[in-house]
Amino acid sequence: MYHVALASRPSGAPTAENFRYEARPMPVPGENEVLVRVHYMSLDPYMRGRMDDAKSYAKPVEIGATMEAGAVGEVIASNSPAFKPGDFAFGMFGWATHGCLKANLLRKVDPTQVPITTSLGVLGMPGFTGWFGLTELGKPKAGETLVVAAATGPVGSMVGQVAKSLGLRAVGVAGGADKCRLAVETFGFDACLDHRAYATAADLRQALAAECPDGVDIYFENVGGKVLSAVVPLMNNFGRIPICGMISWYNAGGLGAGASDPDITAPALWRNILVKFLSVNGFIISNHFDRFPAFMAQVAPKVASGEIAYVEDVAEGLENAPAAFMALLKGGNMGKQIVKVI
Ligand code: NDP
Repeated sequence: MYHVALASRPSGAPTAENFRYEARPMPVPGENEVLVRVHYMSLDPYMRGRMDDAKSYAKPVEIGATMEAGAVGEVIASNSPAFKPGDFAFGMFGWATHGCLKANLLRKVDPTQVPITTSLGVLGMPGFTGWFGLTELGKPKAGETLVVAAATGPVGSMVGQVAKSLGLRAVGVAGGADKCRLAVETFGFDACLDHRAYATAADLRQALAAECPDGVDIYFENVGGKVLSAVVPLMNNFGRIPICGMISWYNAGGLGAGASDPDITAPALWRNILVKFLSVNGFIISNHFDRFPAFMAQVAPKVASGEIAYVEDVAEGLENAPAAFMALLKGGNMGKQIVKVI
């Protein structure tokens, strides 16, 4: 089998030298363990954080260890009554062609209703993140206005679609004209602005203000930086900001905490939170998987029927995962980034 190991820690944006694609002995399943041949692997922004040696909600990947990832594949050997060869399972198998985990760490995937790739995106961790963050922390109400950036990614596109289904005005922010078109035409956003087309946060704010004539009630925070700076002064009193991610700062070190950003200062941010009575809630989705069955019950039928749309960007071959990951961090993905491993 093959895997991609963390060869060294990046300083700034990751480079090819930070990864090593190499052979590794095939694991032998022990008691209650299941061996899976990986078909598709997920690439997600959080993996940048695992490359830094910084204290966080999850441990960093050790140098020489397999990069962390969720993946889906076919069971080829099982010492658990819960799985048999031929079943499909999702697990944290890492950037690898095969994975071996205890059965209780796996989630069975039904390949008959929707493609198994959906278990990585729209019906996996990212889709669940968008659904949970908006419905539980965003407290959406019909008639309100929502803004979300990375609008065509698996989190943002779920946020936008759930918002629309609840009767909100949904305004996306995305990188480039093609992504903005995708946001409106495929995901149903009322409008989408290209953050790259505005030189300053003030310019972006002016354009957003025109698309949000009644102000902004929910800013679903995915990116930080220029977009955060643009949106915060547009927030209405008692607005909500679920903090999901801040990808524009991830390459700054310290998982983003090392960033200094001229676009936004802590005093300006705190002032807005104070005088507008904003509710700001950070969340890490791994703490909320008790709600995953409710998410699946509500959303999976809508994905199967086409009522909820999804777009996947598939890189071919595990050896190409580092390049696809580096591109993802810069917005090179069009929809959920996955890697076809076989
Ligand atoms: P995406 O597939 O949307 O990929 C990341 C996107 O971020 C890029 O495509 C790019 O989109 C955008 N981006 C990158 N740099 C910048 C920048 N400087 N300014 C603005 N946008 C930028 O990612 P996901 O949907 O998987 O994740 C979205 C966010 O949610 C991330 O911050 C991620 O870390 C977070 N997350 C948090 C979780 C939690 O538990 N809290 C769980 C899952 C995800 P574009 O080209 O459109 O700008």
